[in-house]
Amino acid sequence: MEVRRFVVGPIQTNCYAVVSDGHAIVIDPGASGAAIARELGDVVVDAIIATHGHGDHVGGVRALADATGAPFWIAEPDAERATHSGSPGSLGIAYDDDAPMAERFLREGNVVRVGDASFEVIEAPGHTEGGIVLLGEGVAFVGDTIFKGAVGRTDLPGGSPAVLAKTLKRLRERIPPETVLLPGHDDATTMADELRANPYLVG
Ligand SMILES: [Zn+2]
Repeated sequence: MEVRRFVVGPIQTNCYAVVSDGHAIVIDPGASGAAIARELGDVVVDAIIATHGHGDHVGGVRALADATGAPFWIAEPDAERATHSGSPGSLGIAYDDDAPMAERFLREGNVVRVGDASFEVIEAPGHTEGGIVLLGEGVAFVGDTIFKGAVGRTDLPGGSPAVLAKTLKRLRERIPPETVLLPGHDDATTMADELRANPYLVG
């Protein structure tokens, strides 16, 4: 399994492609969907997954889906938001395009497989109502729920500080410390480092 990162769009969103055995899932193509498809070349994209429905995470879904034929999956509470995320939102930024309506709603406990890799879906509301984390193979795609030394904003559409606090408590128990966290923006970290140094996750 190989994880490839593409930094895309006006606020440097991390898009990740998990490639295994000639197949891939693409997580959070926030922009530049056609370019991501070109970069992946002959790899068969099995699914396009968004960790949540903000425009900077789904702006490239439509172009990537058009180029690859892959279906789009997201958690149901964020599905509607993703379909009108192309219009300028509270950040005043216009993103590439609205996402199409999802073909599958991901839920707690679903297992997403690609090649010989598999990832469990953990519902992680707080940054938005329909945020998810994908955990497996020693890594976790945490979207905008956890960052190195910080957590996602709760003042954007769908955000709730109280809900995020509950989610972080669950994630402390669910994500093994040695797990590499791959967030939606900025650098990777590990759960152990965040448990030690992130004020939102300590104790
Ligand atoms: Zn977001």
